[in-house]
Amino acid sequence: MAEPDITVDILVVGSGAAGLSAALALANSGYKVAAVGALEAAGNGRTVALFEGSLRFLRSQKLWPHLSDIAAKIVAIELIDATNAPVPIQNLTFAAEEIGLQALGANIENSKLVPRLADLALQNPNIHLTEEWLDDIVYGEDDVSAHFTSGRRITAKLIVAADGQRSTVRQKAGIGTRRWTYPQVALTALLAHELPHHDRSIEFHTRSGPCTLVPLLPKADAPHRSSLVWLISAAEAQRRKALAAADLAAEITGEVEEIFGAMRLDSEAGFFPMAGMRVAHLTGRRIALLGEAAHAFPPLAAQGLNLSLRDISALVSCVDAARAAGQDIGGAAPLRRYAAAREPDIDIRIRGVDVLNRSMLTDFLPVDLARGLGSFAISAIGPLRRAALLEGILPERSRPRLHRAPTHLS
Ligand SMILES: Cc1cc2nc3c(=O)[nH]c(=O)nc-3n(C[C@H](O)[C@H](O)[C@H](O)COP(=O)(O)OP(=O)(O)OC[C@H]3O[C@@H](n4cnc5c(N)ncnc54)[C@H](O)[C@@H]3O)c2cc1C
Repeated sequence: MAEPDITVDILVVGSGAAGLSAALALANSGYKVAAVGALEAAGNGRTVALFEGSLRFLRSQKLWPHLSDIAAKIVAIELIDATNAPVPIQNLTFAAEEIGLQALGANIENSKLVPRLADLALQNPNIHLTEEWLDDIVYGEDDVSAHFTSGRRITAKLIVAADGQRSTVRQKAGIGTRRWTYPQVALTALLAHELPHHDRSIEFHTRSGPCTLVPLLPKADAPHRSSLVWLISAAEAQRRKALAAADLAAEITGEVEEIFGAMRLDSEAGFFPMAGMRVAHLTGRRIALLGEAAHAFPPLAAQGLNLSLRDISALVSCVDAARAAGQDIGGAAPLRRYAAAREPDIDIRIRGVDVLNRSMLTDFLPVDLARGLGSFAISAIGPLRRAALLEGILPERSRPRLHRAPTHLS
């Protein structure tokens, strides 16, 4: 039998990492929140690297103490050019100490992060978390009702669409998208290796895209572990899907130039076709889109969930401001402010990732020259390197209020 119909302030549809984080942040601001979606923890060797700005947000929400034990710190990021370009391209190292931090961020396995956030949501008295599947949206005079396949109805002032790239909320609201694909598949896996990573993330830039290792916490049977995101062609993905685990591990070990010695798979491998998506509007009537319902791009420079946490931070600020001014929290004014606050940041990440990705895929000489010049300038000019680093981990211009509190990794 379906659970009873309820009325809340805000309904969050989608209970992935973005939806659960949004529900927790909105509940922290005192709203009665319903969070609905399938509680699935995407495994397949996937992790999220969260940078300093995101850690500040998680601290401001008092979530970080509940996550720090599953997070491996990242103190440096090394970029190694492996494109065999005809012009020299400098290898680069970005270190936390260069910008006065103890760490640049932390890496967390998705299969640990999502259940941990779900547990926190279940314990939060302001959140009603259930597994439901949204079917339709019906507007009232000054609210909106979500109808679920179970027959249940939840009414709210505002619906937050965090229901992923194929968002039902977005479709029901008639918000259009532009989609494109890349000739790449992301191969993901957790790896156990022979040598320590020393908290370093290493990114090899190849002609099929980056091949990135990010530190993970040790396990009893695996003292040295990293996660892998390797962008490869669809044909290579097809071939590698059929490989035995030991053969796949041997290919990965070779690709990363045996930097951490011999490797073995410590999880299933995942294969994710790469695509991009942008939405025509970030909001609809009583609807705010965020996370992968609002933007999608390849996992270069680990921007996805970091960007989504900035969406959440901005949305909380806009809704809080409306409440403080006695306005309707799902009305046009806060939604207009939310869209205006988020559009430039989302636009720059989608474009930046697209340019970076395509610049590796082409062997067109002027593009290689530009990469060579860029890497040389960043390597030689300290302030430029620090600015590039800050833009990646703590973007100043697009930093919402809840991302500002200075904090450090414990
Ligand atoms: C290979 C790879 C590596 C990545 N690495 C990083 C990284 O290092 N750092 C980083 O910041 N980001 C990274 N990302 C991005 C990051 O994984 C995502 O941003 C993150 O998983 C959050 O996604 P989401 O919650 O927006 O969407 P999803 O995880 O897709 O969640 C959407 C949820 O909505 C639910 N849902 C869908 N439709 C309905 C419906 N009709 N009714 C109810 N519920 C519904 C789904 O069941 C799901 O639970 C990476 C992505 C990939 C593919």
